[in-house]
Amino acid sequence: MFDALIIGSGPAGFAMAAALGEAGLKVSGLTATSPFTDWSNTYGIWCDELEPLGLSDMLSHRWNDCVVYAGRREIPLRRVYGLFDNVKLRDSLRARCERAGMTWHSGSATQIEHHIDHSRVMIDDGAEVLARIVIDASGHMPVFVQRPPVSNVAFQAAYGIVGEFSTPPVSANRMVLMDYRSDHLTPSERAEPPTFLYTMDLGGGQYLVEETSLAYAPAVSFEALERRLHRRLEFMGIQVREAHHIERCLFPMNLPLPHLDQLVLGFGGAASMVHPASGYLVGAALKRAPIVAEAIAQALGAEISSTSRTARAGWQTIWPNDRVRKRYLYLFGLENLMRFDDQQTNDFFSAFFQAPFSQWSGYLSDTLSIPEVLQTMLSVFGRATNGVRRELMQSVGGGGNLLWRALVG
Ligand SMILES: Cc1cc2nc3c(=O)[nH]c(=O)nc-3n(C[C@H](O)[C@H](O)[C@H](O)COP(=O)(O)OP(=O)(O)OC[C@H]3O[C@@H](n4cnc5c(N)ncnc54)[C@H](O)[C@@H]3O)c2cc1C
Repeated sequence: MFDALIIGSGPAGFAMAAALGEAGLKVSGLTATSPFTDWSNTYGIWCDELEPLGLSDMLSHRWNDCVVYAGRREIPLRRVYGLFDNVKLRDSLRARCERAGMTWHSGSATQIEHHIDHSRVMIDDGAEVLARIVIDASGHMPVFVQRPPVSNVAFQAAYGIVGEFSTPPVSANRMVLMDYRSDHLTPSERAEPPTFLYTMDLGGGQYLVEETSLAYAPAVSFEALERRLHRRLEFMGIQVREAHHIERCLFPMNLPLPHLDQLVLGFGGAASMVHPASGYLVGAALKRAPIVAEAIAQALGAEISSTSRTARAGWQTIWPNDRVRKRYLYLFGLENLMRFDDQQTNDFFSAFFQAPFSQWSGYLSDTLSIPEVLQTMLSVFGRATNGVRRELMQSVGGGGNLLWRALVG
């Protein structure tokens, strides 16, 4: 029997598998795709999040010159951004797993059965694996982790082109986190959910241009994003010379938290760890994996150990009460954002990125305490236009359910 079984070999599954192995546990991995399959998504991260993890050399690109366009301003961010070298990151996590003696099996988990001191996972090829704790890292629609039912889920959606263009879509060595300029749209198009351009100079004459809807329910369609991207490029006088890769991005931003008393532990998308303000997850998975692994190792090593105690220790480490409350604040911010029209969205992000650096950067990297998140929100409110303030006041006055839950726990 294994100490831990990880299901899924995405960034979360690999990060957790490596951390559990390094915590001295006997770990097995099960994944529907081969663990050698490339991660095809373009994963970005703020470099200051990687430094404390000793993973700064896992990047393929980094940009010192990062800006946002919002509220008719160009706002320099003075924060270094990077793109992961997915193969390098995955291989380094895989090497850590191998050093700990861990192996991966290919197959899809289909059923799980819990016992007092272990769980049994059935695989589609008829095999079974027994482990003292099962960690479901099978993504946003997990195979085993249960959540309360939901409707009206908000999705981040993006349509991007990596390729060569007739004219550079961004200045040399620059990354544009968000370009909310919308002069290329007609008034009726401007009344649709706002989208922004995410752009980077990838070097060697290659660029990524990605039209992105930060969050909307229902999701903005790929057709609409593609149309908007081409309209924007046309307005900029830019033609696509050669598209090397088309990126289609769609994932949920505000799925409810899983039940925290279930006997299977979740991690990554399966545990609703996506940051509701940005959609980012990879940095959080890398950062939290060793802490969760340590809690699991302690629970398994305790004098009285059981599946339920180990799962509870894991869930409490991933979602301690403070983090749950903080998430309500982020969700409150997200709900407001989805109500904003084009002008309000522009004004909001102009205020957000002109708040003190420690506030906006900490908000996006989830490093602030609850009082600090509230302070950041007040600081943005203070800088915002009257239109944005009115909208925010209405949502507080109109119940502010999420805000209330954040404050009282
Ligand atoms: C185009 C795109 C760009 C993105 N950019 C960023 C970014 O810049 N930064 C960022 O932080 N996030 C980004 N995201 C979000 C991020 O990709 C996801 O949140 C992240 O991949 C989720 O990681 P995960 O390991 O939890 O799940 P996944 O990456 O979805 O991995 C799930 C794993 O589980 C396996 N699996 C599924 N079902 C089973 C089963 N029944 N049995 C066994 N194995 C199973 C799958 O084969 C897979 O290996 C982006 C997403 C997309 C689509």
